[in-house]
Amino acid sequence: MTEMLIVIGLAVVLIVLPGCQGKSSKEDNGTQNDNSSEKATLKRSDDKDDSSTESASPEEQLETVSFYDDGKKDRYAAYWKDNPNESAEEVVSYVNTDADEPLPDDPEEISMPTTVLTIANKRHALPADYEPKDMVRVPQPCSESDFSCYLGDQFIQEVAYQPLNDWTDAVEAELGHTLKTIAAYRSYSYQQSVFDYALTSMSEEEARKVIAMPGLSEHQLGLAVDVTVDDVRYDQLESISDYKVLLEIAAQYGFILRYPADKTAITGYDHESWHFRYVGEEAAQTIYQNNWTLEEYVGRGNRS
Ligand SMILES: [Zn+2]
Repeated sequence: MTEMLIVIGLAVVLIVLPGCQGKSSKEDNGTQNDNSSEKATLKRSDDKDDSSTESASPEEQLETVSFYDDGKKDRYAAYWKDNPNESAEEVVSYVNTDADEPLPDDPEEISMPTTVLTIANKRHALPADYEPKDMVRVPQPCSESDFSCYLGDQFIQEVAYQPLNDWTDAVEAELGHTLKTIAAYRSYSYQQSVFDYALTSMSEEEARKVIAMPGLSEHQLGLAVDVTVDDVRYDQLESISDYKVLLEIAAQYGFILRYPADKTAITGYDHESWHFRYVGEEAAQTIYQNNWTLEEYVGRGNRS
């Protein structure tokens, strides 16, 4: 019986994962809502006989951005040359996320301890022995009859527990929907078993495209939740009429839509309307209001 449940569980996860873990091949179109803030202050060049004080060189404009990293200056210049319509701030934040570089075969290991702003993605891997501390059961797990429900107890870091509870209550009160968590924490070994299971029916190359390698899924952080409402299929969540309000309420309680459709080049993942990440209220509000990703927020020098 237990083995049967594990097999069913793996099959369900495999159904869930292709969209959830798909490697993106789309290009970011570079649109941003906030082009005006923190425009580079003009800076006069000391070593050039430049009679114009109206315009600064690209290098000067980049250097005035507060989160400029001198070690990346060649990459800023190369990226700006290819994307001349972006502002200096956008260029610096984009390159700071490393989205201008191809995905590495061997992702960099994340340094400990983790925070609510830790990025686990295809560039930054969690160690095999990483397990979040202070895990608690999620307040409202889905039932086994729900489509794509992860079987068994669901866990999340304690820091996100009350916010998830409050988000759930607010969705009920303001929209009349029952918010359901269909998947939360996944261990490294669980992700490994999912990946190994996939290898029984596809090549490793194919598996890497549809399933996150162990260590590269932020579900291992215990801060990510896949949700849906009522009896809506998780991959149809975006089709509910008040989906945008759902996102707004999420941000009020510290959760962000982690993989927006127009940010696939930065996140490395295709759009996932059901995957939310706890980052804390302040970060979530800023990310939501500016249409940023967690990578862009951290790329602007924000740390917890
Ligand atoms: Zn997910």
